[in-house]
Formats: sequence, structure tokens, C-alpha cells
Amino acid sequence: MTSQPSRPHRVAVISVHTSPLAQPGTGDAGGMNVYVLQTAVELARRGVEVEIFTRATSSADPAVQQAAPGVLVRNIEAGPFEGLDKHDLPTQLCAFAAGVLREEARHPQGYYDLVHSHYWLSGQVGWLARDRWGVPLVHTAHTLAAVKNASLAEGDTPEPAARQIGEQQVVAESDRLVANTADEAGQLERIYGADPAKIDVVAPGADLNRYRPGDRAAARAELGLDPRETVVAFVGRIQPLKAPDVLLEAAARALADDPGMPLRVLVVGGPSGTGLERPDALIELASALGIASRVTFLPPQPPDRLVQVYRASDLVAVPSYSESFGLVAIEAQACGTPVLAANVGGLGVAVRDGETGMLVDGHRIDDWATALRSLVGDPDRLARFAATAPVHAESFSWEHTAEGLLDSYRRAGMRRNRTFGTGEHSLRRQRGVWKLRRTRGVT
Ligand code: UDP
Repeated sequence: MTSQPSRPHRVAVISVHTSPLAQPGTGDAGGMNVYVLQTAVELARRGVEVEIFTRATSSADPAVQQAAPGVLVRNIEAGPFEGLDKHDLPTQLCAFAAGVLREEARHPQGYYDLVHSHYWLSGQVGWLARDRWGVPLVHTAHTLAAVKNASLAEGDTPEPAARQIGEQQVVAESDRLVANTADEAGQLERIYGADPAKIDVVAPGADLNRYRPGDRAAARAELGLDPRETVVAFVGRIQPLKAPDVLLEAAARALADDPGMPLRVLVVGGPSGTGLERPDALIELASALGIASRVTFLPPQPPDRLVQVYRASDLVAVPSYSESFGLVAIEAQACGTPVLAANVGGLGVAVRDGETGMLVDGHRIDDWATALRSLVGDPDRLARFAATAPVHAESFSWEHTAEGLLDSYRRAGMRRNRTFGTGEHSLRRQRGVWKLRRTRGVT
């Protein structure tokens, strides 16, 4: 009896709408980009070759790039390089799928052992590749349209019904589904009727080698921040769903009650989604609220600088209306910075209420102003939270996430009743051909 390989040899990762090499924190690039790249790096360290397929968005994008040892990024031409709105991407899925299938066809049969798709657009392509190659499909939704629509910010555009139909199809077609939290697993079951037996809950992580406590004074000096102020940071894409306006309004309310409060709000990130129509809307809001001199804006920062942002801050606020997980919350805590977060989605897992930070129900400005005042005015409590935060963050590492994904891949392989890398899928391929012939009346 031959022993069954415990992991795939080569995985095709599909990330249609955003490249893992893009700068996160603006446009369509955020936690998913970080997730795709970091898990690929960790899988490669465990001997799994990873090829990430993404849509080329510049004529300067080479066809293939090495992102890390064992990790390739393949930039597939599908539609115009620039100016294609995310909502128009479904029109290019056919072209993208063709690019992925053609790439595989250039290699010997059985080149990829498994497809892992991220976000529903990629699931649509992954499902086709899975059928064509006769390999398992593992899918991570990252966000769900129905969940997002249930907690929209004022003025935010609801996700279209077409996305929900697409998500439903991908859930039905996937061999395994990876959910960030048990809550999300429940949503997949409730909303899309997913079979609970095919869901694996795998928590995302943070780069704990990079994000760790450090010299706060040096970080403040590097960023030009006053050492005497209490810095509350918002880090992420500036869009209604992330609710940076809630933080500004709460800060304005808190300062109106106590003008002597040494509060500085630091906003790090760039416009995204509907925010793009008025990229300066948040700066205008700070002025309208009369707190422009208390708010510092920084453009999206690369990880090496972001670590200094977290270290320089006394508190990181994550007021999002909806958040599948919230990597920023983990990264901040890993740096020893407490988090004040909305009690939504994965943030309830990412933050330990009353131990590493505080969770606020809802988005009433009064509640947020009260929470802000109570934390900024109680340095001892902040210091206690700061001491516990890195200990809590330690349980979220990309190493851990990669191990969870490997378990999911193993189960996916077993479910399809095939072993990895044995060429068995050619059998299934033949069966597929046979089926096709039969429906055409050839046999
Ligand atoms: N990020 C970054 N630079 C910035 C702002 C954000 O690199 O200026 C990264 C941040 O480190 C995090 C990700 O963007 O890993 C945001 O992930 P999160 O899950 O918090 O939010 P998402 O973008 O997925 O909604």
C-alpha cells in the first residue's frame, strides 16, 4: 500500500480582484492581500509551492513574479489594465479563467493539486479550474454580501444581488470552505445552506516577527508625533464601512466635553470604494467638526512603517460596521497597543473585551465618545490592556493559519477521494470526458 502524501505539492491560489503585491490600506487592497501573501509564504516554507493568479492592472506587470521563495504571482491579462471598476469585474471572469486554464495547459498534466480561491469572484474561476483539472476546490469568502448589506454605513452602496447568487454557487461547488471565525461558519450555513461538515474554521494571523512591542518614544519621534499627547489611531482603507467618521465625531464630542484632553487622532490609509468619489471627505469632516488641528493624516504605510504607527499609538480604534476579522486589531495588539473596536464580526474574537481593549455595541457617537474618554482618561487601564494585548495576539500567527489551511487541504483531498500528487485526477478527467460523450450520445 502506498502512503498518502499529507500535503499538496503545488496549489493554485486565485485572487482575481487584488494582487498580493499591492500596497494594502487603500483602494481594493486590504487584509485579503496580506492574508493571501502571508499564508502563501508560510505554505511555501512547509514545502508547498504556491502560484497566485491575479488580474494584471498595469502594462508594466510582468507575466510572472517571484513574491517569495516558493511563491509565484501570475498576472493574468483580463480586461483593461486601469479604470475597471470592481463592480465590472464579473464581465472579465471568462477572460481571467481562460488565462488560468491556458497557464496550466502549458505544464505537464496534473500540475496543480488543489485550487484555493479567495473572495467570490475568485471562487467562480476556481470552480471552473477545479472541474477542468479534477482537483479539490477550497474557498475562503473573506466577506459575505448578505452580512455586509445587513450592516451598511449611511450612504454606502449595497452589494448587488448578483454577488449573492455568485456566492451561493461557490459555496455549493466548493469541496471545503474556510471561515475566519465560528460566527462566519454559522453565516455560511444559515445564509447559504453550507454543509457544516465541509467548513473549517481557521483564524487569520499577524506577522508576529514584525509586529511586536517596541520603543514608543522612538516611534513617536520617527512619525513626528508629540510625546505628551494621547494618540488614538485609525488604520485601514478609508471607506464608509470602516467608519473612520465615527471616530472623528466621537473625538470631537469628547473634546467638546473636555477641551484640555491631550487627544490626537492619527488616520492612516487611503481612500477606497465609495470614498473615492470624494477622497478628501474625511479631512473635510475633521475641519467641519473643528478638530482639524487634532487630526493627523498619513498615506498608506508599508509594514515597516506601520509597526511604528502601532507602537506610537496609545490606542487603535476599529469602529467598522462589518468586519470579517480585522487584521489591524491583531497587529496593533501584537505591538502592545490596546484596541477600541465595534462589537461586530471577527472583532469579538480579535479583541478581548476588558482585557486587551474594549468592544462597543453599535455606532452611537455618544457611546464612542464615552468609551474614548474613559480610556484616554485612565492611563493605568490602558497600560494593563497594553501588557495583555501581545499575549493574546500570540495565538494568531500566520504559521498557525497555514497549518489550519493544510488541514483543510488534507480534508479536501480526502473528500474528493483522491490523494495529492499521484496523477489520480487524470482518471477523473477521463471520467469527465466519458460523461461528456454520453450526454452527446457518442458512447
Ligand atoms: N495596512 C497596511 N498599510 C496601511 C493600512 C493598512 O499595510 O497603511 C494593512 C494592515 O497591516 C492590515 C490590512 O492592511 O494587514 C488591513 O486588514 P484588515 O483585516 O484590518 O481590513 P480589510 O482591509 O481586510 O478590510
